[in-house]
Amino acid sequence: MVSGDYESHSCTRIWGPEKLVLDDVPDLRPGSGEVVIEIHAAGVNPADTYTRSGTYAIKPNLPYTPGFDGAGVVQNTGDGVTRFRKGDRVYIARSSSGTYAEQALCSESQVFRLPENVTFAQGAALGVAYGTAYRALFQIANALPAEGVLVHGASGGVGIAAVQLARAAGMTVIGTGGTEEGRKLVREQGAHHVLDHTAADMPELVAKLTSRHGVDVIIEMLANKNLGKDLPMLARFGRVVVVGSRGTVAINPRDAMGRDAKILGMVLFNTTEQELASIHAALIAALENGTVKPVVRQELPLAEARRAQEMVMESGAYGKIVLVP
Ligand code: NAP
Repeated sequence: MVSGDYESHSCTRIWGPEKLVLDDVPDLRPGSGEVVIEIHAAGVNPADTYTRSGTYAIKPNLPYTPGFDGAGVVQNTGDGVTRFRKGDRVYIARSSSGTYAEQALCSESQVFRLPENVTFAQGAALGVAYGTAYRALFQIANALPAEGVLVHGASGGVGIAAVQLARAAGMTVIGTGGTEEGRKLVREQGAHHVLDHTAADMPELVAKLTSRHGVDVIIEMLANKNLGKDLPMLARFGRVVVVGSRGTVAINPRDAMGRDAKILGMVLFNTTEQELASIHAALIAALENGTVKPVVRQELPLAEARRAQEMVMESGAYGKIVLVP
């Protein structure tokens, strides 16, 4: 959990990973329509660090348990729960209690069946990373088979998911990574072409790869660095989905005007319950037929949550970092 002093917490205060402490808290009990999950693996996301540092839109009351992602086994169900029984293998798309823990509390609609061929560690990569990639591609950009997609930042949790999903849907996929190891992974996960997002000539390489047509969709993980260069890489009627951004950026609006291009923002938390159900029905089908296979970079003990939160913000991404209670 993240402990702290209520009085001194304010949105301007930046808190480091040292605020994360392992502590004992009372067992969780499900209310009506809720389930308690015994957590076997919790996913680590950049948003966990923004929340902890106080720089995110979500500002929990202190102390709180971090974590949005997780997978495990149903331990207890409240009145009115019909989809799950004690012992079911599940993964978590949202939770009301936080997932860096031995237990998490969720409403029934926030939990999904974990297929038998998927490990708990892989299941902990699904809620945020795969949920975001699916929503960005299919619910926000309305990406279509035969379109060209640039996954700008393809070596991390969301990027790997976007590469696998776009490839399986019949798109031509260009993925980027900042390291040799990351780019090798992106290629292995299905990207037709792989580029280095630190290379100054990336826009020219994208133009060449698309015979100067441009890409139809860009899934952008670091818009504050790239948005100005993304717009000229788009085809006519192209769409950029801003998934990640850590600051401001200058763009030339004419780069969008000339193409009838769209800049689309998204946060996963705006997804409705119905959209969430649709995303996870598609993901479960793709997990079962093997077109989606989360890549787990490293499993760390829950007690090493500080290290995990440092690692997720370092360059050299390679799939998902997972905590094991
Ligand atoms: P991650 O696993 O840490 O991966 C970060 C990715 O960004 C890596 O592929 C990294 O590549 C890449 N990157 C680094 N520098 C880049 C650059 N200059 N240009 C393009 N890509 C670059 O994080 P994640 O979970 O995939 O999340 C990615 C971003 O999306 C984060 O900013 C996160 O906060 C955000 N996000 C937003 C939502 C939402 O709802 N909007 C949901 C989930 C995540 P290398 O390390 O190989 O350089």
